[in-house]
Amino acid sequence: MKKRVAFRTLGCRLNQFETDSLVTDFYNAGYDIVSFSDKADVYIVNTCTVTNQGDRKSKHAINQAVRASGDDSILVVAGCLALSQKEYLENRKDITYIVDNKNKGSVFSLVDSHFKGELIHPSALKQDTFNYSLVEKSLHTRSAIKIQDGCDNFCTFCIVPKVRGRAISRSADDVLENVHKSVELGNKEMVLTGVNISRYDFDGLKFDDLVEKILTLPGDFRVRVSSIEPEGFTDKFLAQFENPKLCPHLHLCLQSGSDKVLMRMRRTYSIAQYMNTIDQFRKHYPGFNFTTDVIVGFPGETEDEFLDTCKVVQEAGFSHIHTFKYSRRSGTLADRLTDQISEQVKSNRSKTIREIADTMKLEYRKKFIGKEQILLVERNKSKGGARGYGEHYVPILIQGKQLQENEFYKVRVTGILDDKERSMTAVLQ
Ligand code: SF4
Repeated sequence: MKKRVAFRTLGCRLNQFETDSLVTDFYNAGYDIVSFSDKADVYIVNTCTVTNQGDRKSKHAINQAVRASGDDSILVVAGCLALSQKEYLENRKDITYIVDNKNKGSVFSLVDSHFKGELIHPSALKQDTFNYSLVEKSLHTRSAIKIQDGCDNFCTFCIVPKVRGRAISRSADDVLENVHKSVELGNKEMVLTGVNISRYDFDGLKFDDLVEKILTLPGDFRVRVSSIEPEGFTDKFLAQFENPKLCPHLHLCLQSGSDKVLMRMRRTYSIAQYMNTIDQFRKHYPGFNFTTDVIVGFPGETEDEFLDTCKVVQEAGFSHIHTFKYSRRSGTLADRLTDQISEQVKSNRSKTIREIADTMKLEYRKKFIGKEQILLVERNKSKGGARGYGEHYVPILIQGKQLQENEFYKVRVTGILDDKERSMTAVLQ
């Protein structure tokens, strides 16, 4: 009988890519991929620790797996929690293997050996940040391409450099081969993924050089840059968006609209530099979509500093803001600051930013009415209607039609729905 494996992923796009790659390993070895609440032989929880909420959700998923599992099931806990909460995990008797990020790409061989009666300690697995199989069987439509891992910035609030390690870039040849094979498999949208991709540097080849090479590959696909730090932008990178293969969207991490807070966070840019980047892009590409992350309630954040953030996010015209309440992470500099902000103030500030974000989302979406988008269909809804995203990363619904999934369609936007996403309706052109 076929063995069954269930996955749960918490956190960032990089984690999602890494899970997708593991899904491929198990699928190709003949496993059935089942839902996380089903009975399975193997449960794999790919954890996140970036905030308290990430910890909580990861532990909740572990408990869920324990409840769903049978006597012979294996529970593998992988990812960032494996380092940040090592002791807690090791003290639990219900986890079979704890695998940190460096060994995560070899989870399949660990499980395979287990079922063959050979018990390997995870630390003996191959240590290679880029040791991931090409994603053939994915839990997502967009194909993430891992180009980089780790970070050297050590922002004072961030635990990521501790759990992902120092910055390291994947060889350009490997990245290009990965994109090429992914296109051959029929994937239409490649999302360049890493912890701090703007610092990509492999043997002197920088991020904009890599993007240039990817864009010259043949095939019917588009590239999305996704989440990026506002540093190291070049004129060459700006000009690359003239190529319709490169989606006009960046998730440009802001974190705060106050220079003083940015300094305390040890971010590497000023608000003037950040806004200058946005202005440059909008001057060349008026409808360019910027989304961002904002942290509210960083230690010592005054009301005036918070109001600076409110002002800057409005000026920037983000179409989406991922708002985080500052979360203390043990081992970071900000955790040791004494002027921590109360949860109540953080919640109030978070609510304010979310309200501003919703208004801006609507404003941004309105600009698309009557305009064309290239829709990549992700799925057909059971009650009719094809859903997907346009090149600007705006959600689009073609009502009353079933369309080929993972195909491009030229559409014209007709309106905005009153749903949480403010999805746009459109008709085929
Ligand atoms: S740039 Fe800062 S916030 Fe981003 S991963 Fe690196 S240390 Fe963390």
